[in-house]
Amino acid sequence: MKLYIVLAAAWLLAACSSSHYNDSYRSIGQDSRVQFIVLHYTSSDLSRSLKVLTQGQVSSHYLINNNPATVYRLVDENKRAWHAGNSEWAGRTWLNSSSIGIEMVNHGYRLNAAGRREWQVWSEPQIKALIILLKDIMRRHGLTARSVVGHSDIAPQRKVDPGPLFPWHKLAAEGLILWPEPKDVARHTAKFSQQLPSITWFQEQLALIGYAVPRHGKLDKATQNVVAAFQMKYRPQLHNGQPDAQTAAMLLSLTHQLH
Ligand SMILES: [Zn+2]
Repeated sequence: MKLYIVLAAAWLLAACSSSHYNDSYRSIGQDSRVQFIVLHYTSSDLSRSLKVLTQGQVSSHYLINNNPATVYRLVDENKRAWHAGNSEWAGRTWLNSSSIGIEMVNHGYRLNAAGRREWQVWSEPQIKALIILLKDIMRRHGLTARSVVGHSDIAPQRKVDPGPLFPWHKLAAEGLILWPEPKDVARHTAKFSQQLPSITWFQEQLALIGYAVPRHGKLDKATQNVVAAFQMKYRPQLHNGQPDAQTAAMLLSLTHQLH
């Protein structure tokens, strides 16, 4: 009987509370709390990925397996998942609050006998599933091609996922991210080969794109890490963190598209 009274009281409270608000007027000034989508790899197989992302202190909204390319929804989109950590993009920090996290089953890299990183190739069905998922999320939250980033973009000092083999160009081909215009890159590369822009210029361009980068005009380790993150995404063949003419050309082509 006591339990019945408690339940009835709870129901009454719930029923009443909804009628306390007048919803006749709605603001046009509103958008989704989701501003970014952050892509990761899990560094492990499916069973371990599922365990870590459901039982531990890290989580993501989605997990995409590699084979078969099953998409697991682990956290509702209106809840915050814990995948980004200390992060920054386009002046916003701690992106867990403003992003949707997508983890993908991929080992990342293993060190070979010579101590070099050997990266795991991505599965085709997994990337196809990702593209379908991205389109769905972006449509529902009104997101543009500036909103999809890698963990290495938002935390370049400590993260390298999704890594240099991740096929960003396939996302670009679907209009999901911006991509340097090949004609512009060729033209600008020729120009910058004559004279490389200053480190200050590189830092300014990287910051315009969204990276958290030092602005002191010196090529320190932190700046090199950001340059390497950019290269890993747009020119993975060489991502040594050294500013060069082609990197400058790609930066300029991208920042021109932001206007
Ligand atoms: Zn990550």
